[in-house]
Amino acid sequence: MAQIAFIGLGNMGGPMALNLVKAGHSVRGFDLSETAKALAKEGGVEVVESIAEAVEGAEAVITSLPKGDHVRSVLDGPDGIWAHAPKTALLLDTSTVDVETSQWCHDQSAERGFSFADTPVSGGTVGAAAGTLAVMIGGDDDAAQRAAEYVKPFAGNAIVAGGPTAGIAAKLTNNMMLFIESIAVNEGAVLADRLGLDPKVFWDIVSVSSGRCWAQQTWYPVPGVIESAAANKNFDATFRADLALKDITLAVDAADKHSLNIPAGKLAKAQFEQLVEEGYGDKDCMLTVKNVSPDGSAKGWDGAAPSSK
Ligand code: NAD
Repeated sequence: MAQIAFIGLGNMGGPMALNLVKAGHSVRGFDLSETAKALAKEGGVEVVESIAEAVEGAEAVITSLPKGDHVRSVLDGPDGIWAHAPKTALLLDTSTVDVETSQWCHDQSAERGFSFADTPVSGGTVGAAAGTLAVMIGGDDDAAQRAAEYVKPFAGNAIVAGGPTAGIAAKLTNNMMLFIESIAVNEGAVLADRLGLDPKVFWDIVSVSSGRCWAQQTWYPVPGVIESAAANKNFDATFRADLALKDITLAVDAADKHSLNIPAGKLAKAQFEQLVEEGYGDKDCMLTVKNVSPDGSAKGWDGAAPSSK
């Protein structure tokens, strides 16, 4: 069993670290949030007060941080991972970041004698807790094979996508497809309703027809159809709108750098931007369903109701 450092014990990192503990690894974790630290401690993570303490003697150092800037600052600097981790430690970043940040992590790690793998994840907090995440791995052969072993306790599937940054490229592309799909599902759900269809019957039809997709299966935006969907909880987030905006912006920026035409991706981005501008960044990304009706109403949505969280 390995000594593993885990930096960033939030909604994703927390349960991922707990699954490493359950698999018998010795996990030392660090976060800035007292709540995150307390939850991780409860689950058997040895919570420490600095990155230096967390990475001491570690065979692998895993990060799960909000954005590229956080990843850069946690790796770099006198208090960072590079300054304190053993050179033999494999560095794995599971955060969703831009391709440039990921390339920088690979290049700068190599320059300092570290092996690095980009290992972004898909499957949300439910997948993190259940240990069923899809992990998309990018790195040179040796780093990628080693990474595939370390992520096993929280992975349902761990797939080596290719060389450095291939994992993050797969992740950004996948999420762009998901968020375009989410807009299609919102529009379909409201149209079906206006055409007089029973939402559950329509959902059953789509589930065995060509409109079937992940957002339809998991996030259907009408109350009473999918138990775990945000529509049943006044659109309290299962996937926050501001995080959806972050992911699709990274994908749109990547497409722009390659001069691609992605009007659907840009439309989805504009819808999330609108939600965030309206002050709903912490609500679920499927709240874009309210844009379908001219009066901004949606079944299951009460803008005046207090959050249940
Ligand atoms: P989160 O905000 O819940 O967790 C991030 C944690 O990082 C927080 O606890 C924060 O305190 C900590 N942190 C920030 N700066 C730090 C620092 N300098 N040192 C130590 N800790 C620091 O976010 P999350 O939902 O767990 O997401 C983490 C990453 O995973 C993001 O990049 C996100 O895009 C990606 N992701 C999230 C989901 C999801 O459904 N939430 C799904 C797939 C991927």
